[in-house]
Amino acid sequence: MKYDVIIIGAGPGGIFAAYELMQRKPGLKVAVFEAGHALNRRHCPIDGEKIKTCIGCKSCSIMSGFGGAGAFSDGKYNITNDFGGTLYEYIGRKQALDLMRYVDEINLKYGGEGTKLYSTAGTRFKRLCIQNDLHLLDASVRHLGTDINYVVLENLYNDLKDKVEFFFDTPAQSIEATEEGYLIRCADEVFACEKCIVSVGRSGSKWMEQVCKELGIPTKSNRVDIGVRVELPAVVFSHLTDELYESKIVYRTKQYGDNVRTFCMNPKGAVVTENTNGIITVNGHSYEDPAKQTENTNFALLVAKHFSEPFKDSNGYGESIARLSNMLGGGVIVQRFGDLIRGRRSTPSRMNDAFITPTLNATPGDLSLVLPKRILDGIIEMIYALDKVAPGTANDDTLLYGVEVKFYNMEVEVNEKLESRYKGLYIIGDGSGITHSLSHASASGVHVARDIVK
Ligand SMILES: Cc1cc2nc3c(=O)[nH]c(=O)nc-3n(C[C@H](O)[C@H](O)[C@H](O)COP(=O)(O)OP(=O)(O)OC[C@H]3O[C@@H](n4cnc5c(N)ncnc54)[C@H](O)[C@@H]3O)c2cc1C
Repeated sequence: MKYDVIIIGAGPGGIFAAYELMQRKPGLKVAVFEAGHALNRRHCPIDGEKIKTCIGCKSCSIMSGFGGAGAFSDGKYNITNDFGGTLYEYIGRKQALDLMRYVDEINLKYGGEGTKLYSTAGTRFKRLCIQNDLHLLDASVRHLGTDINYVVLENLYNDLKDKVEFFFDTPAQSIEATEEGYLIRCADEVFACEKCIVSVGRSGSKWMEQVCKELGIPTKSNRVDIGVRVELPAVVFSHLTDELYESKIVYRTKQYGDNVRTFCMNPKGAVVTENTNGIITVNGHSYEDPAKQTENTNFALLVAKHFSEPFKDSNGYGESIARLSNMLGGGVIVQRFGDLIRGRRSTPSRMNDAFITPTLNATPGDLSLVLPKRILDGIIEMIYALDKVAPGTANDDTLLYGVEVKFYNMEVEVNEKLESRYKGLYIIGDGSGITHSLSHASASGVHVARDIVK
């Protein structure tokens, strides 16, 4: 089969590339190959009753399938260059923001209408944070919520399915450069295309590395973010979350001068597990529908680590820490903050005595046996700093789930078109190491589609 464009990966990067190609040149013959399932077949078997923890499905429905890692996410589209990736370094700050706004418009058109756009512009919390040595980053955030995010994806799929050929449960195995373009090899068949967009996200990181090695595309090691997911009663953060929804706050520790930041805040949300290449880590999301909301808010506290010489494998370091927590807890470990600072593990009975109901069934344990001292010290310092702007953060019953690891793909060498050294081979989204968010990944898809039709 021969296509004008083949897209590998149907996450936000791939979807928005396909969408924009069809908007601008509907006559193009486009195929999308996706390792995971179609949207309606994506189900995580964890039901909290029969199946309580990750059973390591062959294709993780949280990470893979139509919608990519974003399908069951909180659907927070942050419109900012301050975090979420470094797309602006390639395409310019204005272009990056314009594309993120364009993506927002499409999301509204496909079911997100009526959802709220929060903004840090003019907020009084900026001052309150600075007064307490905390730094609130600037952003506008569209919160679709897990439920509306799903509806938007469903509508996008229904619109695209007759225009673009989708191949689900079809991982691309290799990419071969030819005189006319590229050959994409899958298990049983080989497909040809003139241009290829690779958008394989975090779950495709190992494969991406292999492709770059085979094609001689240079890569650079990236950072890894390691930390915990904090869960506390929603009222503790409600003054911030009601106004800003998500506040990205950075704190520089006194002890080591490391930056600790809040990440992925989910008011009235739930903590969930995530399976990346067989390693169980923790994440969170929340619903727009009040009926599905919980009484807790969760967010991550992360410390970035970047290794260069002689050890370069930042992700490998993060993986080892996550494996250690998997080994001790059989998955995710949960600990009360009070137990952590008293140097004792949390036990089922201490958890039962807590005045908070965890939203994830994790193993009570001791995070100090898992996290390196420097990282743990930073997190504890940050919790006390946050306690000044959100009193109650440092309560004994605040829950810490570990570990949360944000793996970043190695950064692939691409130019301002996000095109590799091979003409017509574009590498976008989280798989390129350039983006780490829904809005940046989606914007990168629109950017390359426009370049292709040009
Ligand atoms: C639980 C969770 C919550 C999140 N919440 C948010 C949030 O609220 N806001 C935010 O900005 N970000 C959030 N993120 C991150 C966000 O989902 C990602 O940044 C975004 O999805 C990246 O888009 P992408 O298209 O680059 O990659 P992905 O979404 O990872 O999609 C890549 C796709 O490629 C497929 N693939 C991989 N290898 C192959 C192959 N060889 N052949 C074919 N297909 C392949 C995968 O199956 C996957 O479906 C969250 C992530 C998770 C896991």
